[in-house]
Amino acid sequence: MEYLPLFLRLRSRPVLVVGGGVVALRKVAWLLRTGARITVVAPVLHPELAARAARGELRHIAAGFDPALLADAVLVVSATDAADTNRAVSQAARARGVPVNVVDDASLSSFIFPAIVERAPLLVAVSTAGEAPVLARRVREQIEALLPARLGSLARFMGARRATVQRALRRGARRAFWERLLAGPVGERVLAGDERGAEHALARELLTSRLTSSAAGSGGIGEVYLIGAGPGDPDLLTLRALQLLQQADVILYDRLVSPQVLERARRDAERIFVGKELGDHDQQQRINDLLVRLAREGKRVARLKGGDPFVFGRGGEEIEVLAAHDIPYRVVPGITAALGAAASAAIPLTHRRLADSVTFVNGHQGDAASVDWRFYADPRHTVVFYMAVAQLPDVVARLRAAGAAPRHPAALIERATLPGERTLRGSLADIATLAREQRVAAPALLIVGNVAGHAPAEVLASLAAPAAAAGAFA
Ligand code: SAH
Repeated sequence: MEYLPLFLRLRSRPVLVVGGGVVALRKVAWLLRTGARITVVAPVLHPELAARAARGELRHIAAGFDPALLADAVLVVSATDAADTNRAVSQAARARGVPVNVVDDASLSSFIFPAIVERAPLLVAVSTAGEAPVLARRVREQIEALLPARLGSLARFMGARRATVQRALRRGARRAFWERLLAGPVGERVLAGDERGAEHALARELLTSRLTSSAAGSGGIGEVYLIGAGPGDPDLLTLRALQLLQQADVILYDRLVSPQVLERARRDAERIFVGKELGDHDQQQRINDLLVRLAREGKRVARLKGGDPFVFGRGGEEIEVLAAHDIPYRVVPGITAALGAAASAAIPLTHRRLADSVTFVNGHQGDAASVDWRFYADPRHTVVFYMAVAQLPDVVARLRAAGAAPRHPAALIERATLPGERTLRGSLADIATLAREQRVAAPALLIVGNVAGHAPAEVLASLAAPAAAAGAFA
């Protein structure tokens, strides 16, 4: 991290601005809103700055920069287009330990101005450490669009009632109370501009909270969120997954949950790694026990699983346990690896001319007899094998034995949607060798069937000559 974001209180503090043009004007406008005591030093002033000086909003010194002006400044901004002056200001300020910003020159600055989204008292500051100001502005616009206009009122509303809530509720109950408030009618009323309605709703909430928390003694039972984390790229999380990850007190996560996804969770949530080691059959029991225990302590527990919780994720077993213990739970679907990998590798899982159906199979399954391999061996049927790396030669052999041709298309996608993603394309004849040579490792998926040989360019060609294309895949 190149810079530490801070929010600096400048009310009544002396700030020096060097330069009197439009750039200085922009910075002065921000600084004035903080209530800083501003001195602008410049031989001439932009008319609007002159007007502000005339109104007494700032002091003007009609001169060039002089290091002596820094004597009592707590902050200095150099906004001139004279490189010498900017350098002189930077040097003088650094020598005195005064934080300095030279507009548009990070190398001369000890601090930089972020792009700001303001819903005062709520502020969002965005920075790219000076690398890409245009990108910072774009992110600001996106956040701007995301945040309701009355969010500032909501922050003030909550601020004004903090003391009341603090008195009314015990420590452990407060955060949950505020979160319910935000998600419920109180937040809704404030954002709609109806503070009286919000006030009534708050009084009601407060009453119920006191009743329920005293009835439940320790604060009552928690909740478990069974959340699909998707294949790895955090942008593939659902909005609901993000919301619940922001609420959870504890996060239990698997090996397949990427660090990038964990980054998106609440900062101060406790994180517990519960990944299974191969052959550790007690681990699921330990996870079940932990889920029950944490929820009984009143915690909101996020059980975060790679992909989707209900696709080879043992989510079904976990909700059985939760239901048996009367613990409330919610399931949040995730993008399962097959969908993530198919999208990443541009392999459509079904295709009007190539495949009518798709099956997700556990490549590990010991009980191969339960599977109709002849069905999988039909190239018009797409089969996605999860957990297939170790079993690859075995899977290929079974498909071949069930009648699949050597040229039956096959693709392996390793680390789909994650950094270092690779796709190997081939056929049943060579995919196992390719995988060995290229040292493909878990997590990876095997996709077999016509679609695995699909490339958009070929499709365009086949649209012109459908018969030929069908032949090529038969
Ligand atoms: N619940 C998960 C699957 C867990 S089983 C889901 O819905 O995706 C674990 C297997 O998923 C791995 O062995 C691998 O085959 C597959 N997998 C998970 N993430 C993957 C990724 N990013 N790229 C490729 N395969 C992945």
